[in-house]
Amino acid sequence: MPGLLEGKNALILGVANRWSLAFAIARAFRREGAEVVLTYQGERQRATVEDLADELGAAAVLACDVTSDENLDRLAADLKSSPGRLDCVVHSIAFANREDLARPFLETSRSGYLLAQEISSYSLVAVARAAAPLMRSGGSIITLSYLGASRVVPNYNVMGVAKAALEASVRYLASDLGPKNIRVNAISAGPVKTASARGIKDFSKVLSGVAQKAPLRRNTDPGEVADAAVFLASELGRGVTGNVLFVDAGFQVMGL
Ligand code: NAP
Repeated sequence: MPGLLEGKNALILGVANRWSLAFAIARAFRREGAEVVLTYQGERQRATVEDLADELGAAAVLACDVTSDENLDRLAADLKSSPGRLDCVVHSIAFANREDLARPFLETSRSGYLLAQEISSYSLVAVARAAAPLMRSGGSIITLSYLGASRVVPNYNVMGVAKAALEASVRYLASDLGPKNIRVNAISAGPVKTASARGIKDFSKVLSGVAQKAPLRRNTDPGEVADAAVFLASELGRGVTGNVLFVDAGFQVMGL
């Protein structure tokens, strides 16, 4: 039986290591027959991402720091040469200063606030603008969000505000790009132990709290997030745009 993403070309930004949600998504996309291009932010990550790309059989590995318009222009030019057409883009990128994920939100500096917004929210707009001209047959853009966008989660702070802007950006981008049959959605994942998550103070308490209270009484597996991304990237998700899809063992429905 052909895979759900057979014949599709996907750009996946945000693989840092094998624990990254983007790596789980790239693996699921390959399983379903997609060709994938991975990106890395800086030289420090290059060798790791190249090794993971080999393991996956990725078509290419390209450099891209999303804070640089020059990098984004070069990425778009490289993708235009090969593979030439894009069908899916996965934006799995976020960053905030560690101290802003530990002290009261009230203490957030102007620079820390703007940095979190630039990397974690504005970059979706910039990536969508760079990729959309290559999505000539329509396609699917997927970003990763978290419950801290709409609820106060201890220590998530400035990142919660950036995720709120990210989710609003999903809706505006969905409206702009819908006439080109490009769908834009977010997956709001339950907490998963990754390099980024380890930067949040007391993250292990969040994990144990969710496992106790979520309807499914467990944490989220990265493979579940990846399978939801397959759905959104495939024809099965053709009617879905502008949405935030929770893949969190049901935690978001709970009151106390
Ligand atoms: P991760 O493995 O650390 O991935 C974050 C990625 O963002 C890394 O590849 C990082 O690259 C990249 N990045 C940061 N600044 C960048 C820049 N300027 N240009 C390009 N790339 C940049 O952690 P993750 O948990 O998988 O995070 C992926 C996404 O899922 C994030 O949006 C995160 O907020 C979201 N999410 C995570 C959880 C969770 O509990 N883990 C839950 C819900 C949503 P470097 O490592 O090279 O800096």
